[in-house]
Amino acid sequence: MLTTKQMELYAELAVSIGANMQKGQEVVIRCDVNCQDFAHLIAQKAYELGAKKVHMEWRDEKLDRINMLNADKDALCDIPSYQTELWNYFIERKCCLISISADDPNKYKGCDADKLAAYQVAFQTARQAFRNATMSNYLRWTIVSVPTPEWAKQVFPNISTDEAMDKMWKAIGHIMRLDQPDPTAAWRKHIDTLVARAEFMTKHNFEYLHLTNKAGTDLTVGLALDHVWIAAEEAGQDGIPFTANMPTEEVFTAPHNRKINGTVVNALPLVNNGNVIDGFSITFENGRVVNYSAKVGYDALKGLLESDEGVLSLGEIALIGKNSPIAESGILFYNTLFDENASCHLAFGASYPTTVKDGNNMTAEQLAQHGMNQSIQHVDFMVGTKDMNIDGIGYDGKVTAIFRDGDWII
Ligand code: ZN
Ligand code: ZN
Repeated sequence: MLTTKQMELYAELAVSIGANMQKGQEVVIRCDVNCQDFAHLIAQKAYELGAKKVHMEWRDEKLDRINMLNADKDALCDIPSYQTELWNYFIERKCCLISISADDPNKYKGCDADKLAAYQVAFQTARQAFRNATMSNYLRWTIVSVPTPEWAKQVFPNISTDEAMDKMWKAIGHIMRLDQPDPTAAWRKHIDTLVARAEFMTKHNFEYLHLTNKAGTDLTVGLALDHVWIAAEEAGQDGIPFTANMPTEEVFTAPHNRKINGTVVNALPLVNNGNVIDGFSITFENGRVVNYSAKVGYDALKGLLESDEGVLSLGEIALIGKNSPIAESGILFYNTLFDENASCHLAFGASYPTTVKDGNNMTAEQLAQHGMNQSIQHVDFMVGTKDMNIDGIGYDGKVTAIFRDGDWII
């Protein structure tokens, strides 16, 4: 366990460095009922730092599973209008959002893949406006995480629940830099390092990145026209900076969704809606998936790739060195927030409008002309291995080495 002081520092990091809540602002905390203690700690800290009001968007993953197993498809896909109204209310109030991500990786294990995919489409469609408000940085937002017993047992199945929880807290405390003398200062330094790499990448304006490794990845990823590399800290539409993911180790941008060619093999399992997909490889031609296979979770992968048109291309490419504290921990967390920060990744589906210059002021058509991908999905999957090499290829054909043996060399 962390000390009370460390827990308070953690809550403070979420409010200040994460969402960068401003005095007098309203806050939404999105949290499962099984992490309510940490949500309450964040609420308290938010008021201490000047929040006007704190709203809770409680989730209940056990009920989600009961619904998935028992309700019929039409009933599940009928997302109540009051839900959308609530999200609209949060947008109108310009709340900042703090999400606590601690899903049981087996939440939907054994549930009907068709029904689950249909529900996801209905849910994401109903949530579209709110998702746009966060993805376009109209609202500032952050995601943090705390362990739960179910999750800890999945990560450490061979020890008791108490021991597993202890190990999880220790790992998360280290990854979140809460074991450093001044966690806030450590975070500022970390953010500055990542931002410098992002500036290097943006300045070079590569046309393509070429990813290769011994597992069979040989993929050329075109980058969106006028793309911008982003790391750690982003600016909200009102210019106020925030850190969307804590932890964060990634430097990312948008692929060009008509210029992706070759094959990529996953490096870590993809956990999507509680389904584990592993041993998979994806082949692209002119930006679209033309072939795929999976040793584990093929149906779940198929369900994902059939959920809309845009999911067949990529909306994100993110670079992470093998020496990040998450990668070094060697732990598979079965949670995207951690696992995506352990390894270079790509995302099926939507790109972030913020990853292209002036993207927030572009129409959907203008974004599409720049190669920005649109979809109701955004699902990260890990591709970076310890032997991954990455080259940047400029519009003049010049090749610049960026990664050698899984780590940054710039
Ligand atoms: Zn990412
Ligand atoms: Zn992503």
